[in-house]
Amino acid sequence: MSPTLLLGAPVADALLRSLKPDIEELNPKLVVVQVGEDPASTSYIQQKLKSCDRVGLRHEHRHLDEKTPLPELMQKIEELNHDRDVTGFIVQLPLPKHLQLYVPDIIKAIDPMKDIDGFGAYNLGKMFLSSEFEHLPPATPAGVIELLKSYKIEIEGKHVVVVGRSNIVGKPLAIMLVNRGATVTICHSRTKHLAELTRQADILVAAVGSPKMITKDMVKKGAVVIDIGVSRVNGKLCGDVDFEAVAEIVSAITPVPGGVGPMTVASLIRNCVVAKRRQAVR
Ligand code: NDP
Repeated sequence: MSPTLLLGAPVADALLRSLKPDIEELNPKLVVVQVGEDPASTSYIQQKLKSCDRVGLRHEHRHLDEKTPLPELMQKIEELNHDRDVTGFIVQLPLPKHLQLYVPDIIKAIDPMKDIDGFGAYNLGKMFLSSEFEHLPPATPAGVIELLKSYKIEIEGKHVVVVGRSNIVGKPLAIMLVNRGATVTICHSRTKHLAELTRQADILVAAVGSPKMITKDMVKKGAVVIDIGVSRVNGKLCGDVDFEAVAEIVSAITPVPGGVGPMTVASLIRNCVVAKRRQAVR
Protein backbone atom coordinates (compact mmCIF):
# COMPACT_ATOMS: atom_id res chain seq x y z
CA MET A 1 0.00 0.00 0.00
CA SER A 2 1.31 3.46 -0.82
CA PRO A 3 2.16 5.64 2.18
CA THR A 4 0.42 8.81 3.26
CA LEU A 5 2.25 11.75 1.77
CA LEU A 6 2.76 14.32 4.48
CA LEU A 7 2.33 17.47 2.42
CA GLY A 8 3.34 20.70 4.07
CA ALA A 9 1.56 23.17 1.80
CA PRO A 10 -2.07 22.52 2.87
CA VAL A 11 -1.11 22.42 6.53
CA ALA A 12 0.95 25.59 6.22
CA ASP A 13 -1.94 27.27 4.35
CA ALA A 14 -4.35 26.38 7.15
CA LEU A 15 -1.91 27.65 9.78
CA LEU A 16 -1.40 30.91 7.89
CA ARG A 17 -5.17 31.35 7.45
CA SER A 18 -5.65 30.86 11.19
CA LEU A 19 -3.12 33.64 11.86
CA LYS A 20 -4.83 36.22 9.63
CA PRO A 21 -7.27 37.62 12.23
CA ASP A 22 -4.41 38.09 14.71
CA ILE A 23 -2.30 39.77 12.04
CA GLU A 24 -5.17 42.14 11.21
CA GLU A 25 -5.67 42.95 14.88
CA LEU A 26 -2.03 43.26 15.97
CA ASN A 27 -0.36 44.54 12.79
CA PRO A 28 3.07 42.99 13.50
CA LYS A 29 6.14 43.55 11.35
CA LEU A 30 8.81 41.04 10.39
CA VAL A 31 12.29 41.99 9.22
CA VAL A 32 14.77 39.73 7.45
CA VAL A 33 18.43 40.74 7.52
CA GLN A 34 20.47 39.23 4.71
CA VAL A 35 24.21 39.66 4.39
CA GLY A 36 25.63 38.85 0.97
CA GLU A 37 24.25 36.97 -1.98
CA ASP A 38 23.95 33.29 -1.03
CA PRO A 39 21.44 32.08 -3.67
CA ALA A 40 19.74 29.52 -1.38
CA SER A 41 19.25 32.23 1.26
CA THR A 42 17.79 34.58 -1.35
CA SER A 43 15.32 31.89 -2.38
CA TYR A 44 14.34 31.09 1.25
CA ILE A 45 13.86 34.79 1.97
CA GLN A 46 11.65 35.19 -1.10
CA GLN A 47 9.48 32.31 0.12
CA LYS A 48 9.21 33.88 3.56
CA LEU A 49 8.28 37.31 2.23
CA LYS A 50 5.78 35.82 -0.23
CA SER A 51 4.02 34.08 2.66
CA CYS A 52 4.05 37.36 4.61
CA ASP A 53 2.31 39.02 1.66
CA ARG A 54 -0.29 36.27 1.53
CA VAL A 55 -1.37 36.92 5.10
CA GLY A 56 -0.92 40.69 5.04
CA LEU A 57 2.04 40.67 7.42
CA ARG A 58 4.19 43.79 7.12
CA HIS A 59 7.75 42.95 6.28
CA GLU A 60 11.08 44.44 5.32
CA HIS A 61 14.14 42.91 3.70
CA ARG A 62 17.36 44.58 4.85
CA HIS A 63 19.97 43.44 2.41
CA LEU A 64 23.54 44.21 3.46
CA ASP A 65 26.71 44.02 1.43
CA GLU A 66 28.65 40.73 1.37
CA LYS A 67 31.60 42.48 3.04
CA THR A 68 29.61 44.05 5.89
CA PRO A 69 31.92 44.07 8.91
CA LEU A 70 30.77 42.57 12.21
CA PRO A 71 30.43 45.92 14.05
CA GLU A 72 28.11 47.24 11.32
CA LEU A 73 25.92 44.11 11.48
CA MET A 74 25.81 44.36 15.28
CA GLN A 75 24.79 48.02 14.94
CA LYS A 76 21.89 47.02 12.65
CA ILE A 77 20.79 44.40 15.16
CA GLU A 78 20.87 46.99 17.94
CA GLU A 79 18.73 49.33 15.81
CA LEU A 80 16.20 46.58 15.17
CA ASN A 81 16.14 45.67 18.87
CA HIS A 82 15.17 49.24 19.69
CA ASP A 83 12.83 49.92 16.77
CA ARG A 84 9.37 49.75 18.35
CA ASP A 85 7.75 49.20 14.95
CA VAL A 86 9.68 45.96 14.41
CA THR A 87 8.03 42.96 16.07
CA GLY A 88 10.64 40.36 15.20
CA PHE A 89 13.60 39.84 12.96
CA ILE A 90 15.91 37.15 11.73
CA VAL A 91 19.47 37.21 10.50
CA GLN A 92 19.39 34.77 7.60
CA LEU A 93 21.99 32.02 7.88
CA PRO A 94 24.49 31.05 6.58
CA LEU A 95 26.45 34.28 6.83
CA PRO A 96 29.48 35.09 4.65
CA LYS A 97 32.71 33.41 5.74
CA HIS A 98 34.19 36.37 7.66
CA LEU A 99 31.11 36.41 9.95
CA GLN A 100 30.59 32.68 10.46
CA LEU A 101 32.77 32.47 13.55
CA TYR A 102 30.61 35.13 15.21
CA VAL A 103 27.19 33.51 14.64
CA PRO A 104 26.74 32.73 18.38
CA ASP A 105 27.51 36.40 19.23
CA ILE A 106 25.19 37.63 16.50
CA ILE A 107 22.33 35.44 17.73
CA LYS A 108 23.05 36.49 21.32
CA ALA A 109 22.73 40.14 20.31
CA ILE A 110 19.09 39.70 19.20
CA ASP A 111 16.52 40.75 21.80
CA PRO A 112 14.93 37.44 22.96
CA MET A 113 11.47 39.04 22.65
CA LYS A 114 12.18 39.67 18.94
CA ASP A 115 14.08 36.45 18.27
CA ILE A 116 11.44 34.92 16.00
CA ASP A 117 13.88 32.32 14.68
CA GLY A 118 14.06 31.10 18.28
CA PHE A 119 17.79 30.44 18.01
CA GLY A 120 18.88 32.37 21.10
CA ALA A 121 19.75 30.75 24.42
CA TYR A 122 16.76 32.30 26.21
CA ASN A 123 14.14 30.86 23.87
CA LEU A 124 15.94 27.54 23.43
CA GLY A 125 16.45 27.25 27.18
CA LYS A 126 12.79 27.81 27.98
CA MET A 127 11.89 24.87 25.76
CA PHE A 128 13.65 22.59 28.23
CA LEU A 129 11.00 23.34 30.85
CA SER A 130 7.91 22.00 29.04
CA SER A 131 5.80 22.53 25.92
CA GLU A 132 4.00 25.41 27.71
CA PHE A 133 7.24 27.39 27.57
CA GLU A 134 7.88 26.87 23.85
CA HIS A 135 6.89 30.46 23.11
CA LEU A 136 9.29 31.13 20.25
CA PRO A 137 10.52 27.70 19.15
CA PRO A 138 12.80 27.37 16.12
CA ALA A 139 10.61 27.34 13.05
CA THR A 140 11.58 24.02 11.49
CA PRO A 141 11.10 21.87 14.62
CA ALA A 142 7.84 23.70 15.34
CA GLY A 143 6.76 23.05 11.77
CA VAL A 144 7.48 19.33 12.10
CA ILE A 145 5.41 19.14 15.29
CA GLU A 146 2.53 20.95 13.57
CA LEU A 147 2.74 18.64 10.56
CA LEU A 148 2.58 15.52 12.76
CA LYS A 149 -0.35 17.01 14.69
CA SER A 150 -2.22 17.90 11.54
CA TYR A 151 -1.89 14.37 10.12
CA LYS A 152 -2.91 12.97 13.54
CA ILE A 153 0.34 11.11 14.00
CA GLU A 154 0.66 10.22 17.67
CA ILE A 155 3.93 11.28 19.32
CA GLU A 156 3.35 10.16 22.90
CA GLY A 157 4.93 6.80 23.66
CA LYS A 158 6.63 6.58 20.28
CA HIS A 159 10.32 5.95 19.76
CA VAL A 160 11.56 8.83 17.62
CA VAL A 161 15.04 8.73 16.17
CA VAL A 162 16.33 12.16 15.12
CA VAL A 163 19.40 12.07 12.89
CA GLY A 164 21.12 15.45 13.28
CA ARG A 165 21.92 17.45 16.40
CA SER A 166 22.21 21.05 15.25
CA ASN A 167 21.11 23.76 17.67
CA ILE A 168 18.49 25.00 15.24
CA VAL A 169 16.93 21.76 13.98
CA GLY A 170 17.91 18.41 15.50
CA LYS A 171 18.35 19.29 19.18
CA PRO A 172 15.31 21.57 19.60
CA LEU A 173 13.13 19.09 17.72
CA ALA A 174 14.29 16.31 20.02
CA ILE A 175 13.34 18.43 23.05
CA MET A 176 9.92 19.25 21.61
CA LEU A 177 9.29 15.56 21.01
CA VAL A 178 10.35 14.67 24.56
CA ASN A 179 8.00 17.41 25.80
CA ARG A 180 5.21 15.52 24.02
CA GLY A 181 5.95 12.15 25.55
CA ALA A 182 8.19 10.57 22.91
CA THR A 183 11.24 8.50 23.69
CA VAL A 184 13.95 10.14 21.63
CA THR A 185 17.28 8.93 20.33
CA ILE A 186 19.51 11.62 18.84
CA CYS A 187 22.07 10.50 16.26
CA HIS A 188 24.89 12.45 14.64
CA SER A 189 28.13 12.06 12.74
CA ARG A 190 29.82 10.25 15.64
CA THR A 191 26.99 7.77 16.17
CA LYS A 192 28.04 4.15 15.84
CA HIS A 193 25.76 1.61 14.15
CA LEU A 194 23.39 4.30 12.85
CA ALA A 195 21.23 1.87 10.88
CA GLU A 196 20.60 -0.29 13.95
CA LEU A 197 19.20 2.76 15.69
CA THR A 198 17.19 4.17 12.80
CA ARG A 199 15.57 0.76 12.26
CA GLN A 200 14.09 1.02 15.77
CA ALA A 201 12.26 4.25 15.00
CA ASP A 202 8.48 4.49 14.96
CA ILE A 203 9.09 8.00 13.68
CA LEU A 204 12.38 8.65 11.90
CA VAL A 205 13.52 12.23 11.37
CA ALA A 206 16.44 13.04 9.10
CA ALA A 207 18.05 16.48 9.52
CA VAL A 208 21.51 16.06 8.07
CA GLY A 209 21.88 17.56 4.60
CA SER A 210 23.30 14.41 3.00
CA PRO A 211 21.29 13.39 -0.07
CA LYS A 212 19.55 9.99 0.14
CA MET A 213 21.65 8.84 3.10
CA ILE A 214 18.62 7.16 4.72
CA THR A 215 18.17 4.03 2.66
CA LYS A 216 15.37 1.46 2.74
CA ASP A 217 17.35 -0.97 4.90
CA MET A 218 17.66 1.71 7.62
CA VAL A 219 13.90 2.08 8.09
CA LYS A 220 11.37 -0.05 9.97
CA LYS A 221 8.35 -1.26 8.00
CA GLY A 222 5.35 0.98 8.73
CA ALA A 223 7.43 3.80 10.23
CA VAL A 224 6.68 7.49 9.73
CA VAL A 225 9.55 9.31 8.03
CA ILE A 226 10.14 13.06 8.24
CA ASP A 227 12.79 14.33 5.86
CA ILE A 228 14.07 17.77 6.81
CA GLY A 229 17.28 17.66 4.79
CA VAL A 230 17.58 19.76 1.68
CA SER A 231 20.46 19.38 -0.76
CA ARG A 232 20.84 20.31 -4.40
CA VAL A 233 21.75 17.40 -6.69
CA ASN A 234 22.16 18.16 -10.40
CA GLY A 235 20.18 21.34 -9.89
CA LYS A 236 17.27 19.56 -8.19
CA LEU A 237 16.29 19.62 -4.51
CA CYS A 238 16.90 16.32 -2.75
CA GLY A 239 16.19 15.17 0.80
CA ASP A 240 18.19 13.00 3.18
CA VAL A 241 15.90 10.05 2.48
CA ASP A 242 16.00 7.78 -0.55
CA PHE A 243 12.34 8.63 -1.11
CA GLU A 244 11.28 6.15 -3.83
CA ALA A 245 12.73 3.09 -2.08
CA VAL A 246 11.77 4.09 1.47
CA ALA A 247 8.20 5.00 0.42
CA GLU A 248 7.64 1.32 -0.47
CA ILE A 249 7.68 0.25 3.18
CA VAL A 250 6.63 3.18 5.37
CA SER A 251 3.16 4.31 6.48
CA ALA A 252 3.79 8.03 5.96
CA ILE A 253 6.58 10.17 4.54
CA THR A 254 7.31 13.80 3.70
CA PRO A 255 8.38 14.64 0.15
CA VAL A 256 11.29 17.00 -0.57
CA PRO A 257 10.39 19.60 -1.66
CA GLY A 258 6.84 20.07 -0.39
CA GLY A 259 7.06 18.50 3.06
CA VAL A 260 8.71 20.34 5.92
CA GLY A 261 9.75 23.45 3.94
CA PRO A 262 6.36 25.23 3.84
CA MET A 263 5.87 24.42 7.53
CA THR A 264 9.08 26.22 8.42
CA VAL A 265 7.90 29.41 6.76
CA ALA A 266 4.44 29.28 8.35
CA SER A 267 5.94 28.63 11.79
CA LEU A 268 8.21 31.64 11.46
CA ILE A 269 5.19 33.82 10.73
CA ARG A 270 3.37 32.32 13.70
CA ASN A 271 6.35 33.22 15.88
CA CYS A 272 6.10 36.82 14.72
CA VAL A 273 2.44 36.92 15.76
CA VAL A 274 3.20 35.27 19.11
CA ALA A 275 6.05 37.73 19.68
CA LYS A 276 3.70 40.67 19.07
CA ARG A 277 1.13 39.29 21.54
CA ARG A 278 3.78 38.76 24.18
CA GLN A 279 5.22 42.24 23.64
CA ALA A 280 1.74 43.73 24.04
CA VAL A 281 1.41 42.29 27.57
CA ARG A 282 4.99 43.16 28.59
P1 NDP B 1 23.85 21.09 10.27
O1 NDP B 1 24.88 20.90 9.22
O2 NDP B 1 24.02 22.17 11.26
O3 NDP B 1 23.68 19.72 11.06
C1 NDP B 1 23.73 18.50 10.42
C2 NDP B 1 23.72 17.40 11.44
O4 NDP B 1 23.84 16.16 10.76
C3 NDP B 1 24.86 17.45 12.45
O5 NDP B 1 24.37 17.24 13.74
C4 NDP B 1 25.80 16.33 12.01
O6 NDP B 1 26.48 15.69 13.06
C5 NDP B 1 24.82 15.35 11.42
N1 NDP B 1 25.46 14.45 10.46
C6 NDP B 1 26.31 14.77 9.46
N2 NDP B 1 26.70 13.67 8.81
C7 NDP B 1 26.10 12.63 9.41
C8 NDP B 1 26.12 11.24 9.20
N3 NDP B 1 26.83 10.69 8.23
N4 NDP B 1 25.39 10.47 10.02
C9 NDP B 1 24.65 11.00 11.00
N5 NDP B 1 24.57 12.32 11.25
C10 NDP B 1 25.30 13.12 10.46
O7 NDP B 1 22.48 21.25 9.49
P2 NDP B 1 21.04 21.82 9.97
O8 NDP B 1 20.61 21.12 11.19
O9 NDP B 1 21.04 23.28 9.94
O10 NDP B 1 20.14 21.35 8.75
C11 NDP B 1 20.02 19.99 8.42
C12 NDP B 1 19.39 19.85 7.06
O11 NDP B 1 18.07 20.38 7.11
C13 NDP B 1 20.10 20.62 5.94
O12 NDP B 1 20.01 19.90 4.76
C14 NDP B 1 19.30 21.89 5.83
O13 NDP B 1 19.38 22.46 4.54
C15 NDP B 1 17.92 21.37 6.11
N6 NDP B 1 16.98 22.36 6.59
C16 NDP B 1 15.76 22.35 6.04
C17 NDP B 1 14.81 23.22 6.47
C18 NDP B 1 13.46 23.15 5.88
O14 NDP B 1 12.67 24.04 6.14
N7 NDP B 1 13.13 22.11 5.12
C19 NDP B 1 15.11 24.24 7.48
C20 NDP B 1 16.40 24.08 8.08
C21 NDP B 1 17.31 23.18 7.62
P3 NDP B 1 27.60 16.43 13.95
O15 NDP B 1 26.84 17.33 14.87
O16 NDP B 1 28.27 15.34 14.65
O17 NDP B 1 28.47 17.17 13.00
